[in-house]
Amino acid sequence: MDIIILEGDGIGPEIVAATRLCLDALNKRHELGAVIRDEDIGFKSLKVRGTTLADEVVEEARKADGIILGPVSTADYPPRDKGGINPSAGLRLGLDLYANMRPSYVRPGVPSLVPAMDLLIARENTEGFYADRNMVGGTSSELMPTPDVALAMRKITRHNSERIARAGFQAAMTRRKKVTIVHKGNVMKKTDGLFIEACRDVGKDFPEVAVNDVIVDAMTSHLVRDASRYDVIVTTNMFGDILSNLASELAGGLGLAESLNHGDHNGMAQASHGSAPDIAGRNIANPTSLILSMAMLLDWLATRHGRQNYREAADELRAAVQLRLADPASRTPDLGGTGSTESFARDVVETIQSGR
Ligand code: ATP
Repeated sequence: MDIIILEGDGIGPEIVAATRLCLDALNKRHELGAVIRDEDIGFKSLKVRGTTLADEVVEEARKADGIILGPVSTADYPPRDKGGINPSAGLRLGLDLYANMRPSYVRPGVPSLVPAMDLLIARENTEGFYADRNMVGGTSSELMPTPDVALAMRKITRHNSERIARAGFQAAMTRRKKVTIVHKGNVMKKTDGLFIEACRDVGKDFPEVAVNDVIVDAMTSHLVRDASRYDVIVTTNMFGDILSNLASELAGGLGLAESLNHGDHNGMAQASHGSAPDIAGRNIANPTSLILSMAMLLDWLATRHGRQNYREAADELRAAVQLRLADPASRTPDLGGTGSTESFARDVVETIQSGR
């Protein structure tokens, strides 16, 4: 199995190194046979290749079985015509990774803002307000007809809405069998009207799953008041982006925010947060987000290739991370701990190796 690692910017090198330590340990212990390769993206790639995402890297990623993507610093990139492509968007669109699955859950012994919560946000990953290069004719989805007027276009298609809905309903079948469609259909009647209709149509194939829909502004209130009501949330690109930050904070913080991007052919582990320049280079970033994103990738590979050892590796990794997160001496400062990025990863590896 080919796994490609893209380090990224800011805290990327630190949390990627931590994740790699865990992968190396699992690779040996579970005989995963993973061949791991690195490619540069982000600022490193800009220096050497003049672009933050080279076409060759997209092609290598397409050929790989799994991708581990570190956070990227899109805010500081130069304009696109000077090589500043958002690698995350480039890979999501280029490899048609239409589903972004973002779980948020409360863990025993780990500080959180709410007492109970276990939800999964299934976020459409290729269109909505972020359609950008995907727009007809390859133009930007934002334009300025005059210097004082700016427009953003929101693209919703039945096909992509159905795909994310199916991913959400399938996930619900393995969970508590509830799907909530989140939208702003009372205002965006056409785009979200189509999204809701497509999701409900897909829901007919899953009669065991209870479906409701909630307007996005109401959803933020419900999440803060009682997030435990929700199981799977299916939503469009921007709403999923925003709601998942809220959900992650409720569950303990962005340092725990795991996610998997996937299409029909490629899976890409990626923490939900950004490159956190404020804490980069200090060995204090919480690598849990990316380590657990990798666990999601291992599960996805297990299902796709029928490899039970990948499933066992993912389960063991999650158990080891949970054990270490519950220990304040092990966990990182964002969770009130005294551990570092590196020591946390070593502790997880030690737990894996000791078979606890
Ligand atoms: P970018 O410009 O790349 O989006 P950002 O700092 O604006 O970066 P995030 O990277 O999402 O946005 O970070 C938001 C806040 O959360 C920051 O204060 C950051 O330090 C914190 N944070 C994000 N990820 C982690 C992490 N893995 N561990 C600890 N703190 C984190």
